[in-house]
Amino acid sequence: MNLKGKVALVTAATKGIGLASAQKLAENGAVVYIGARNEELANEVINDIESNGGIAKFVYFNAREAETYVSMIENIVENEGRIDILVNNYGGHDVKRDKTILDTDSEHYFETVISNLQSVYLTSQTAIKSMIKTGGGSIINISTIGSVNPDLSGIAYCTSKAAINSLTENIAAQCAQYNIRCNAVLPGFIATKAALENMSQEFLDTFLKQVPIKRPGKPEDIANAVAFFASDASSYLTGEILEVAGGFGKFTPMYGDFVGR
Ligand code: NAP
Repeated sequence: MNLKGKVALVTAATKGIGLASAQKLAENGAVVYIGARNEELANEVINDIESNGGIAKFVYFNAREAETYVSMIENIVENEGRIDILVNNYGGHDVKRDKTILDTDSEHYFETVISNLQSVYLTSQTAIKSMIKTGGGSIINISTIGSVNPDLSGIAYCTSKAAINSLTENIAAQCAQYNIRCNAVLPGFIATKAALENMSQEFLDTFLKQVPIKRPGKPEDIANAVAFFASDASSYLTGEILEVAGGFGKFTPMYGDFVGR
């Protein structure tokens, strides 16, 4: 997966899936921008990547400041003359407030949906304008397995990520003519700070019962899929919605219960 000469951006890349993706892209030769709100943490990531022979740089991004979705891409294009790979990794929700349709206040619902959608729409729109001029690119959106498996809670998160899947397919269809590909990766339960802090052990144990590959995913499992979509190894793939979830949901829950898994 040779990414030499490519300029990449990973949003929210100081931890978890974003961090692993940035490391993986750099390992494969890309110049990787770390989109982050905390420059000190970003510099730790950059030092780590550089000590492994890669090239990484900081670009300011704060999801609470919507203008930074655009400005971070513009800064990269100004510095490098291009952006070839965009990994829209930022995304989230407040698990204490994002519940069911009956007990999630609508203000919070729309805040979450707008924030998660902006994080893909605005960055992609800005990057695509540059990609068209430089001959193409690859956009990878980090969605969630919850976008295709309706949940009993987290309605804002799940529906916003489902919309991100649709954005992915629409961008793919509309931008293939410019040699721009767009794919989504749907992580299952990945052992990151966000996942471990937001979910109880009891929930995680129950969740794992529905995962045929009986372990939580690692950030590297997602990073491998990201690097694949970033590279020419996937040059004939676009508009794909790829589950990387250890087979979650592949056997029926009823059968799982029946055989006592
Ligand atoms: P994580 O380990 O908690 O990392 C979250 C990242 O987001 C950190 O780098 C954090 O930066 C950054 N961030 C948070 N708020 C921000 C803001 N306002 N502006 C800029 N950056 C901000 O999260 P993760 O589990 O890797 O999740 C990454 C993506 O994967 C998300 O889109 C999530 O929905 C998706 N996902 C994760 C799982 C899972 O099981 N982990 C499953 C499905 C989907 P700081 O260092 O500054 O806090």
